Amino acid sequence: MLMTKQDLDILIVDDTEIVRKSLTSVLSRAGYGKLRYAATAPQALEQLGRQPADVVLADWIMPGMDGLELAESIRQLDESQQRYSAIILFTSKEGIEPLEEAFSRGVDDYLRKPINERELIARIQGVARVATLHTTALRTVNVLRRDNQRLHELATTDPLTGLGNRRFMQAHLESLLNETVARGGVASCAMVDIDHFKLVNDRYGHPVGDEVLCGFAQRLRWSVRPTDVVTRVGGEEFAILTYHPDPAKFTPLLFERIRRSISQNPIKTSEGDMPVTASIGVASYSKNDLLISPDELVKKADHCLYQAKQQGRNRLIC
Ligand code: GH3
Ligand code: MG
Ligand code: MG
Repeated sequence: MLMTKQDLDILIVDDTEIVRKSLTSVLSRAGYGKLRYAATAPQALEQLGRQPADVVLADWIMPGMDGLELAESIRQLDESQQRYSAIILFTSKEGIEPLEEAFSRGVDDYLRKPINERELIARIQGVARVATLHTTALRTVNVLRRDNQRLHELATTDPLTGLGNRRFMQAHLESLLNETVARGGVASCAMVDIDHFKLVNDRYGHPVGDEVLCGFAQRLRWSVRPTDVVTRVGGEEFAILTYHPDPAKFTPLLFERIRRSISQNPIKTSEGDMPVTASIGVASYSKNDLLISPDELVKKADHCLYQAKQQGRNRLIC
């Protein structure tokens, strides 16, 4: 994004009207199209808050707030606006020290008075190039960050139900186990598998099967505490992860309530109410147990689920 002179937004800040006027006429003669001015630093900041500038030309010495303070405030504003404004100060100060101070406080360049017109134009071109590149880089970083977040969401979300997928479950379980090791309490993993789900697909078709899956996902979500995590880890298989800081408040039989709610209340679909049942296997880990990996805990819960199926389905094994 290289800007033309016409596009470059320049703000001139000087407490002397004659200086503002002469700079404006020099710059418009040189082809700059977007020129604004402010008489004081606070006025400049107020303008920049509403509409940022690409280049700010400011006098160093001004009553109230000077050019250096203005430069610092512009940098803060830039940060909140995710952009970069180039700042050039005018000064009659001599020597290397003011120059050092100016650069260390966020000024990009400075010009000694009396201002030479050709030097002014050359310096504006220089800082504008840097400022626009900087702004483009900041925006690119932002876009990449957003895209990355979106990709991460896509990679960990089940598109049908909107629940987290198996990858999400594994990552969350890992952090739950770490938390349990660090703080005590109980982490648990319940594997919930719809019984004879294939029959729903066979009898009513895949789209109705999908409706049942969505209704089932919602039922699970509504049956747990807001802090519990419900995920879809396979076709008709879900995992619920919980953490109870107080071990006395946890029993695997908590999931029995969910099983009952499923078997007692059919799921609404476009083909009418579908009665479903589910089998549940629960494994839990508390601080004093032998250390276990997320995969091992899932395996234990899967084993219990398998037994629940073997024993006739619509039951909970822990
Ligand atoms: P069991 O009680 O042993 O769990 O029997 P089941 O029929 O539920 O289990 P099985 O594993 O035999 O069949 C699961 C079925 O789930 C088969 C598959 O077509 C269906 N399925 C998997 N993913 C989806 C999906 O996204 N949508 C729909 N509609 N069906 C799905
Ligand atoms: Mg099943
Ligand atoms: Mg299954």
